[in-house]
Parts: sequence; structure tokens; C-alpha cells
Amino acid sequence: MLTRVIARRDMNVAVSESTQVWMMLAWIGGTAEQQAKHAASVLHGGVVPCLAYSEPEHGADLAANRFVAVPDGGHYVLSGEKWPINRGRTSTHVVVLGTTGDDTTPAKRLQSMFLVDRSQVLSGTVTGVPRVPTHGLRGCDISGVAFDDARVDASARLGAEGEGLELALRGLLITRTFCTGLSLGTGDTMLRTVAGFLSDRILYDGAASEIPYVSESLANAYLSLLVAECESLVAMRGLHLYTEQFSIWGNLTKVQVARMVDFNTKVLARTLGARYFMRAPEHVGTFQKMLRDGAVVSVFDGSEPVCLDSIALQLPALVKAHGHDRDEDWRALYDLGAELPAFEPHRVSVFGRGRDATFASLPALIDRLAALEASAGCDEDRLAVLRAQAEHLRQELDTLLARAHDIRRSAVQNPATPAPETGKTTPPALLRVAEELSDLHAKIAALGIWLFNRDQLDAFFADGAWLEAALTRHKVREYGTGDLDPATARALVDRMNAQRTGHELFSLRTVRLAAPGAREATTA
Ligand SMILES: Cc1cc2nc3c(=O)[nH]c(=O)nc-3n(C[C@H](O)[C@H](O)[C@H](O)COP(=O)(O)OP(=O)(O)OC[C@H]3O[C@@H](n4cnc5c(N)ncnc54)[C@H](O)[C@@H]3O)c2cc1C
Repeated sequence: MLTRVIARRDMNVAVSESTQVWMMLAWIGGTAEQQAKHAASVLHGGVVPCLAYSEPEHGADLAANRFVAVPDGGHYVLSGEKWPINRGRTSTHVVVLGTTGDDTTPAKRLQSMFLVDRSQVLSGTVTGVPRVPTHGLRGCDISGVAFDDARVDASARLGAEGEGLELALRGLLITRTFCTGLSLGTGDTMLRTVAGFLSDRILYDGAASEIPYVSESLANAYLSLLVAECESLVAMRGLHLYTEQFSIWGNLTKVQVARMVDFNTKVLARTLGARYFMRAPEHVGTFQKMLRDGAVVSVFDGSEPVCLDSIALQLPALVKAHGHDRDEDWRALYDLGAELPAFEPHRVSVFGRGRDATFASLPALIDRLAALEASAGCDEDRLAVLRAQAEHLRQELDTLLARAHDIRRSAVQNPATPAPETGKTTPPALLRVAEELSDLHAKIAALGIWLFNRDQLDAFFADGAWLEAALTRHKVREYGTGDLDPATARALVDRMNAQRTGHELFSLRTVRLAAPGAREATTA
């Protein structure tokens, strides 16, 4: 939520401050002594970490990194360049991956992780690499960091020697989940800006926002934000409850939420009209700024293809685990009022054995829906539609996993000839399955949130018309013109406008925002 409210104001602040989260690597891989030391310096203030994994020549292929960390007595000597790095020049601490292995070391054990306090470097230098001009995030220090024979105490190493790549991946699974807050924040401001502008703009003797085409576009964009919020909320709760499962989940949720907001961006740009192309504030320049800044989410921290590839690689495990999950009480996952256990970052694992609580909960959600009684606003007809839609989700999941199995078997039986000149050979068709699973995941999350929170949230939420509309979409991240039932479109636009003019976040819940120009926020 914090990420979300900061990002809706300014992604530059959100992205710059987000580097604080990298200190968490001490909690994933550090010793109790390291944790105590870093906790003290973080709590004292003034710690600005950066994450230095990427290298100019190797991009997403982290295993190919060449930055070196040579053990020397009780020290390591670090040399090489990391680029592009958020806060590369301005950080006080650097979380860096360096090669400690040799030619005989397996690739995945070659690198170790170091948390370097720049003020504690014993000899040599750590310098900033010039800032990279970017299309968005112009207020951020997107630059690099170069180490030249920088000698650090061996206690700077987090985890065992050779464990660096694994630690790096574990950390990314957590931050990919946090990235959903960045998307939701920019998505909120873009919709708010467009809806505000068009409701004040008079065309054809009325507000432009009331042109049915415009109105439906705004309704659909709002619906997408609600579903994206469900996916994000369930993932955040899942991080506390099913921490070991995030090797798949973290990727699914980052891909899906960013995609929903990115699709909205295209639609909203078209809906805003010519002013989408103009940067000056009087021409709603905020929209352009959010568009450029928000586009980074599907690029960094594991780009969309990298996340999809990671899901694709785990599909065999997902197929194998499917149908073998224990039936559980899913209240803690979906009920927004239920207590959560403390988050234990060390439980994040690079291989979750194909388990995913959201998918596993679907049969129980279907049963819960079957037992639901009609109520005011949600009559038997709607319940019948929702039950059919939920059953369709189950069939879709079975079909997708069967398809994944067939694609993989075919790839093994008929290897490509000539063999591709790359070590990365995941069939694109499997990434496509991963995409479709991301959509399905968000639909199930929305169903679960609805079923477990109907009694606590308002009538708009409880009647389920929004859910029916979301489940009607083939790919929940996309929508076309003319698909939305007019009454549902009206209800969505009215709710969106009430939240906009009432200074609330676009959300299933009531989340008060400071009124424009207010000097301090009002608490609800
Ligand atoms: C604003 C910004 C901030 C950043 N901050 C940091 C930071 O703080 N720390 C840091 O370490 N890095 C940072 N990065 C780097 C970012 O994580 C890299 O962009 C990322 O590693 C991918 O590298 P690349 O874009 O050069 O693409 P490349 O890795 O060169 O990829 C080239 C092409 O291959 C595709 N591809 C690559 N791998 C796969 C795969 N597994 N499956 C399918 N297709 C694939 C890509 O999608 C792309 O189309 C930042 C980048 C930006 C833009």
C-alpha cells in the first residue's frame, strides 16, 4: 500500500526509495550477527542501498556475469562494473553479485553476494558510473557502479560462497510482488487524470465522459484496476502465508498486474485524446509522465519475458502438483480482515515444487459459491452465471496444464533442428501458456476476494456485477468496445467517480486520500 500511494504521486520517489527493500537480503541470507548490524544501521537512518546485479554485456543472463570477487585472507577484492543500476552513484551500500568460483565451479554456484558499505571499503575504489538518460524516471539516479580492486572484509558476504545467484533470485521473487504496488499507483493516477479531464470537458452539449464509448472505456479501465488489486492483495497475503510458493507466484503476479495497467494505459491514452501527446501541465502532462514512468515495471526487476520464462520452466512441476494439494481453509488468504502471520523472508525458495495456493483454492471456491444463497443485489440468475464461470475457470486450468504437458513432451521428442545457438531454449508456446495462466490466476484471486469479503464491503462490491464482468472477459487483462453490459458500465463509472471526487483510492475498499492541496492527510 505504501508503494502504491507513493507511486501514484511520483514514481521517481517510489523507485528511488524502493531500494531500501534490498537490505532484506540480509534477512534472507545473512547471519544473526549480520542482521543485527544492518538492522542497527537501517534504524539509525541514512542507509541508501542499491542492487547491483546487471552488467552491461549480460543483461538478464545473470549467470554469465563477469564481475569478480577474489578471496584474499579475511577479505575479498572486488572488481568490475554494474550497469544500469538504480542509485548506482548515490547509494551508501551496494548489494552486489561477484564471481568467486573458477572454471571447475558449476555455473549456478559461481557467484556470491556481498552487501558492501561504501564507507567501509579498505582500499581500492567504488565509483559511480554516469547517469543513463532515460525516457521516464528522469528524477531517478539510473546509473552504474564500478569497483576497482575494492577490498572489503569477508563479513560483507551474505550467505555461503557460491550461493549468490540463488539468494539474488529469492530476493527478486519478493520484490516482483512489491512491483504490483508501482503498477497500481501509476494506474490510479492515469485513470484519475483522464476521468477528471473528460468529466470537465464539454462536447456535444454534455460532459465528454458521458459519451457512451468514453464511459465504457473508463468503466473497463476501472474494472481492470479492481481485478489487478485483487491479484496484488492476494499475492501480498500469500507472501505471508505461502512464502515457499513464490517461485511461480511472484512471477505470475508481477506479469499480470503490470499487463493490466499497461493495457489500460493504451486505452486511456486514446480516451484522453490529443492531450495524451502533450507534456505541459495545462495539457494534463501528468498522464504522459505516469505513462513514461510506469512503463518501467514490465522492464526491470525481471522483465516480462524473463518472468514468463521462469513460470514456463516450472510448468512441469505445476502440472505434477496439480490436483494433489491439501484442501485447506482459505480464509486467511482471501479474507482481508483475517490476521496474517509475520512475513519470514528466509522462507522464500527458488523452487516451490509447482505449488500455488491460488490455483489450489479453486475447487474450494467453487464449493463455496455453490453453497451461497441469493441476496439483494445478487439474485439466483447472477449466482448461476458466476457458478458457470467458476466451473469454466476449472476447465481452463486443466486445459492449460494439459497443453503445457503436450508442448513440453513435443519439444523433448522433436528437438529443433538446427539446434538454436543459445542456451535458452524454452518453447515460446510455453511462455504463452504462462501468460494465460497469469490471466487465470487473477480471475481466481478476484473470485476468492469476492467470496470471502462480501459481508464486509459495500453493496457495489457484494452484488458481484463487477466480478461477472471480469470473468466474462476472455483475457482478463484486455477488453474490447461494446462488451460491457450497459448497467454494469454505469455502476462501475458511478463508483469510480464517487471515489475520484470523494478523494479515495480506486479500490474495492475505502481508502481515503489527502484532498488536492491539503497540507496533511486525513485518516479514515
Ligand atoms: C530504469 C531501469 C532501472 C534498472 N535498475 C536496475 C538495478 O537497480 N539493478 C540491476 O541489477 N539492474 C537494473 N536494471 C537492469 C534491468 O534489470 C535489465 O534491463 C534487465 O536485466 C534486462 O536486461 P536488458 O534489458 O538489457 O535485456 P537483455 O537481457 O539484453 O535481453 C534482450 C532480449 O532478450 C529477451 N530475453 C532475455 N532473457 C530472456 C528469457 N529468459 N526468456 C525470454 N526472453 C528473454 C529480452 O526480453 C529482450 O527482448 C534497470 C533497468 C532499467 C531500465
